[in-house]
Amino acid sequence: MGQKINLLQGHVAELIAAGEVVERPSSIVKELIENAIDAGANAITVEIGEGGIRLIRITDNGGGIGREDVPTAFLRHATSKIACEEDLSHIGTLGFRGEALAAIAAVCRVELLTRTPDSQLGTRYCIEGGVGGECEDAGCPQGTTIIARDIFYNTPARMKFLKKNVTEGNAVESVVQKTALSHPQISFRFIRDGVDKLHTPGTGRLKDAVRELFGRSVADNLIEVSHEAPPYRVSGYISKPQYAKSNRTLQHFYVNGRFVKTKTGMAALEQGYKNVLMAGKFPACFLFIEMPNELVDVNVHPAKIEVRFAAENDVFRAVYTAAKSAILNFSDQTAALSPA
Ligand code: ADP
Ligand code: MG
Repeated sequence: MGQKINLLQGHVAELIAAGEVVERPSSIVKELIENAIDAGANAITVEIGEGGIRLIRITDNGGGIGREDVPTAFLRHATSKIACEEDLSHIGTLGFRGEALAAIAAVCRVELLTRTPDSQLGTRYCIEGGVGGECEDAGCPQGTTIIARDIFYNTPARMKFLKKNVTEGNAVESVVQKTALSHPQISFRFIRDGVDKLHTPGTGRLKDAVRELFGRSVADNLIEVSHEAPPYRVSGYISKPQYAKSNRTLQHFYVNGRFVKTKTGMAALEQGYKNVLMAGKFPACFLFIEMPNELVDVNVHPAKIEVRFAAENDVFRAVYTAAKSAILNFSDQTAALSPA
């Protein structure tokens, strides 16, 4: 941890889909949480004020950043996660573009506090509108705290596109939820305008995170999914057929650990419930699809929510079969238990 940060060479940087990573507070929170996860944290606290427009503070207990690397981390295309073109084909971290800190520091007033395990003293560094100060000594626990204040204070034109505090805050909360689900081994805490909104236990069990985030009635109505269709693997939970929703807000798909929106996944899941759900009803799911990195292109969209599959049909079949067999299995068990 506290790994050396490299500047990507021009041609590698250009291979990475360009785009603004900072659109609104939730996009900043997403990037900062991903950095905390990549740094190996098992406890992450996200705090926002006024929808994140006034204040975002993210604290992790990960590996920290060595003082000599702190100013570099805020340069464009500075990353410790990939070094060359080849690395792009097997990305094992959530981040890799080396753009987030630079983009955030360009449009916010940023303060960083960080300490690596091998140093006694931490570092404090402030950067505003892309202009950094000096690194100073700071007493701080191991890990990193990043505070981003006053998003778009220097670009009023972009500020205008922000929605009301409550809408921006809800979007942040949704990012924290989605990430907490994909990382049940990490304890996530979310504080909104001084109020504790959620605190996942970090037990490593997905169901515990679901219970904390969506309540007992959801957690108690899940069927486990575990399906191997090499090179694909589909696991997680789907809802019992009798527990249906009138919308898709409880459908969560992840590909290789990243939250994604996938029409293929959604269609395959719902096909699996064909004949067991009433029209206009939708299943809930917390599904994790795993596949070799070569079969999925995460380099499509800067916010990394959309992905492209090399073989859409195979993904459809894997998800459909996973859901269908879990439902059949569940129905068989239920039938065996009920009197003839
Ligand atoms: P990327 O995540 O794509 O590498 P970022 O701009 O988000 O780019 O971060 C730049 C670098 O700063 C990272 O590669 C990492 O070395 C370091 N870094 C950022 N956030 C943290 C953190 N919370 N803990 C440790 N290191 C961090
Ligand atoms: Mg990052």
